[in-house]
Amino acid sequence: ANLRKYMSRSSRFARLQRVKCAVAGRNLYMRFSCSTGDAMGMNMVSKGVQNVLDYLQDDFPDMDVISISGNFCSDKKSAAVNWIEGRGKSVVCEAVIKEEVVKKVLKTNVQSLVELNVIKNLAGSAVAGALGGFNAHASNIVTAIFIATGQDPAQNVESSQCITMLEAVNDGKDLHISVTMPSIEVGTVGGGTQLASQSACLDLLGVKGANRESPGSNARLLAAVVAGAVLAGELSLISAQAAGHLVQSHMKYNRSSKD
Ligand code: ADP
Repeated sequence: ANLRKYMSRSSRFARLQRVKCAVAGRNLYMRFSCSTGDAMGMNMVSKGVQNVLDYLQDDFPDMDVISISGNFCSDKKSAAVNWIEGRGKSVVCEAVIKEEVVKKVLKTNVQSLVELNVIKNLAGSAVAGALGGFNAHASNIVTAIFIATGQDPAQNVESSQCITMLEAVNDGKDLHISVTMPSIEVGTVGGGTQLASQSACLDLLGVKGANRESPGSNARLLAAVVAGAVLAGELSLISAQAAGHLVQSHMKYNRSSKD
């Protein structure tokens, strides 16, 4: 109860949920998890943790605080802890794509997509081990939305962590696609969200600023928008790869001399 009280002292939106402790040698690493309303929460949680540490220091005078943040945090780095414990918002987004859409719009078929996904998943886990998790280009989408909506683009590192899964459903006719993104770090207040263009983009998405009735729901919806956009991008890119159109479409659209 005391840790909760000190965590919330600097902001009524900072609510302590959990503290996870890990020991290594003579050091104790503490990972604080909080809800932070519509803020991404980096400043808010840092302030709260400082207050908690000051309180603990009074109670344990021989405690030596080495740093407020370390690699158990873990900000702007790829780290297993964020995959497993989550950081920011953890989102699963799914869709069923009908057979005729896979054929007409994506110009491929369900079986080719599923086969490609299996091969990519194997390659992904061989290269990146337990941290792997296959995704095609989630970081492109995440970084673009982060810049457009005033997030911290450096946090695309963990926010782009994504497992993309494709399966055949409805007797093998239709495609089920899901993206699992355990650590999307977004806010609709604080940071760069007040800048003119960025706040206009948040407004377009219907998530500008603080949600007064239900604090946190704007930030949660923004995380869902990120995952939905990643799902669409994954579908498009994987389809282009399955259909063999990747280079051809790059030449046509990316190298076009037309504006
Ligand atoms: P961050 O921690 O993401 O860096 P800041 O703490 O700098 O963000 O900014 C959030 C500020 O917005 C805090 O001062 C907080 O009290 C205020 N605020 C107002 N409404 C909300 C809300 N709905 N959710 C979170 N913070 C809010």
